[in-house]
Amino acid sequence: MGTTPFDLDALLARVADAPAIHHAHLNHQLVSVLELTGFDRRYVRADGCLLYDDEGRDYLDFLAGFGVFALGRNHPVVKDALVDALDRDLAHLVQFDTPLLAGLLAEELVNRAGGGLSRCFFGNSGAEANETAIKLARRHTGHSRIVYCDHAFHGLTTGALALNGGAEFREGFEPLLPGTAPVPFGDLEALEAELRRGDVAAFVIEPIQGKTVEIATPSYLRGALELCHQHGALLVIDEVQTGLGRTGELFCYQHAGIEPDLVTMAKALSAGFIPVGATLCRDDIWRSTYSSLDRAMVHSSTFGQNTLAAVAGHVFLHVLDEEDLLSNARRTGALLTNGIKQLAGHHDMISDVRGLGLMIGIEFDQPSAAPGKAAFRLLQAMRHGLFSQMVVGPLFNDHRILTQVAADDVNIVKLLPPLVAGPAEVERFVTALDDVLRKARHMGTSTVRLGRDFATRGLKARRKHKS
Ligand code: PLP
Repeated sequence: MGTTPFDLDALLARVADAPAIHHAHLNHQLVSVLELTGFDRRYVRADGCLLYDDEGRDYLDFLAGFGVFALGRNHPVVKDALVDALDRDLAHLVQFDTPLLAGLLAEELVNRAGGGLSRCFFGNSGAEANETAIKLARRHTGHSRIVYCDHAFHGLTTGALALNGGAEFREGFEPLLPGTAPVPFGDLEALEAELRRGDVAAFVIEPIQGKTVEIATPSYLRGALELCHQHGALLVIDEVQTGLGRTGELFCYQHAGIEPDLVTMAKALSAGFIPVGATLCRDDIWRSTYSSLDRAMVHSSTFGQNTLAAVAGHVFLHVLDEEDLLSNARRTGALLTNGIKQLAGHHDMISDVRGLGLMIGIEFDQPSAAPGKAAFRLLQAMRHGLFSQMVVGPLFNDHRILTQVAADDVNIVKLLPPLVAGPAEVERFVTALDDVLRKARHMGTSTVRLGRDFATRGLKARRKHKS
């Protein structure tokens, strides 16, 4: 008797139950946040830059799954490659072998990363890529301390969390990895003061901070690399969000013309289909960890070299090249940035527009005129950064555009569109933002009431959690 065919339709038919199931068995607080912000839609289909909900409405996806859908959603060439790989009944995850496709992907990545970074470790996530970098750096230098930046985000496993620049993420989980120290982003003197102690294994930095969209200048990155080497430490560039084309170069550090000692990546590497992450490093660093036959398995990950992830990685790079998406990221990024800057001419609450390629931050400050000015102040007094929620909310609820708030203490909205986005997507976004800010200029009691509701419910949830 054969196995009964699997009925995916029967599972998908339960779409309306998803929030309740999540409330019962997964992250119930996230379900509440989605309800509170009006983000509680049920998506049933996706294509390119668009998501579709169960009522057939389309949503412009300027979040791209936190940056994993660099090629947009369900790219046909990626889908075909994965189906092709499955149809071949390949020998996946034998473990005691040298899987070809993972090897070829490593070769491809190191060739594109620059001459000296000749070794590659595959894991499953950005956090794991950074954990790997921490271990490799410690072993190679014989030092233990890791320096990171204020506002940094490198993942939420306990090692990566010890490099997190936001206290709210760490609260209740400490003690974390000992021997980590924050420095202000962009401050070479502060970095040197830490390095001078002579016990630092690595300085880990995002070339553009995901939390604030602050950009590391080329001279800062060059200075950091030099200082690290002067003091026997390594420079780790976390390209989990900025890497793989997002900023218009394959890796963001390439804008600065440097070659770091280690580079971490994840997110877009499998075009969003299979969890994967990678850590690249120099040969001498690698050999310190894998220093003898006994140590061949000293750092590994069961799913690390899995064939489907490797296929996804190859096809991701193939589409990136074929569609010239680095150029498109630069072109569309410039169009989007200029469009927003033009809006700043008549919406003075836009205080800054910054980024590279298609990683863009819009910072807001209080408008100069009443009544928006008073409402902005009230929102700020309730909770710092609340105004940006008042932009992200209407962009979504009134215009069906998905974006995110990028900081807790300042008002920054971050845009991470798929790298395939073009003029039509830019126009939809800029027109929508214009409308949202025009209304915000006249925002009055209803917006403030909404903000107060959001702030107080958020606070209550925190208190409940603490008790
Ligand atoms: N590093 C950076 C710069 C990130 O933006 C993220 C996730 O957003 C991570 C690390 C963690 O990646 P993951 O969620 O895959 O562990």
